[in-house]
Amino acid sequence: MHRFPAAGETSRWPVACRCDGRPNRQGRTGLQEEMNTMTLDLKTYAKQVRVTDGVFGTVLQEQGLLAPGRCAEALNSENPVAVGLVAHSYVQAGADVIMTNSLMAHRFGLEPYDLEEQAGELAEAAARIACKAVEGSETKVFGSFGPTGKIVMTCEMESGEIEAAFAETASGLVAGGAQAIVLETFNELTEVYLALKAVRSVCDLPVIVSMAFAYGPDKTATMMGNTPADLSALAATHGAAAVGANCGVGPDVAVKITELLRATTDLPIWIKPNAGLPEFKDGVTSFPMGPDEFASYVQPLIDAGANFIGGCCGCGPEHIRKIRDVVGARGQ
Ligand SMILES: [Zn+2]
Repeated sequence: MHRFPAAGETSRWPVACRCDGRPNRQGRTGLQEEMNTMTLDLKTYAKQVRVTDGVFGTVLQEQGLLAPGRCAEALNSENPVAVGLVAHSYVQAGADVIMTNSLMAHRFGLEPYDLEEQAGELAEAAARIACKAVEGSETKVFGSFGPTGKIVMTCEMESGEIEAAFAETASGLVAGGAQAIVLETFNELTEVYLALKAVRSVCDLPVIVSMAFAYGPDKTATMMGNTPADLSALAATHGAAAVGANCGVGPDVAVKITELLRATTDLPIWIKPNAGLPEFKDGVTSFPMGPDEFASYVQPLIDAGANFIGGCCGCGPEHIRKIRDVVGARGQ
């Protein structure tokens, strides 16, 4: 078992990716030790606009490696090479940050596939695969996970059970070498809070909180009615390192959401819209917006205050390459 820092204790989790995946506190001296205790400062890191990635599912499905309805996270153990190739394709496309293939790598997300006992393992494998994919580059690995799919406010689930599940996933991501944690596609502020608390209980990595705003008259509220201002307030109160919006809408609406976030926070803003709104045809869901059209919204997103820009559903490496073109040369 790994030992995690107690509240108030400085984390000694290494910042650099360690693809052996094992924390090593012994045999390190001087500069090495200092580097290992440094935490990535997102405010400094995002002084230049940073390009993030697309999604794993879209590419794996296009390649025929993931049938609709199958568990994307299971591929972290069944086919790590394929997952690694997708991750590497984002590095090659120019991403400064890639995420881990672990959106649903928690007990609640894996339960329908009878894989819940492997939650920590699959999260750790996801981070390890991403770390291997960025080897030799400056690209950072941020570990990601999404919501349970339960409604927390109605007490459908015990909050302690939810926190424990999220802590298990976060532990796996940290053990695999993630340098920050992204809580993404959340709909309910209470659940974001539980996830943030859970991550805090196992590490002190920077945490990005990102919700799916897509409802209300102007599509800028979550399904549960939370607004960008609500998320900014939670982030300020509970020490998130960045706020964001992902999924739900295309980049056009994301410009408005970014403005609403920027009006209520001075934290870095993380934006990953979908490639337009989903279209359903012959039982297949697709996202219509191509890389060029998607990239035409990058400058408006930057002008609205976005610091990290990537894509969610329907976005693959070509979308990221086009975002990179607009943002310009990689920052340091
Ligand atoms: Zn999405």
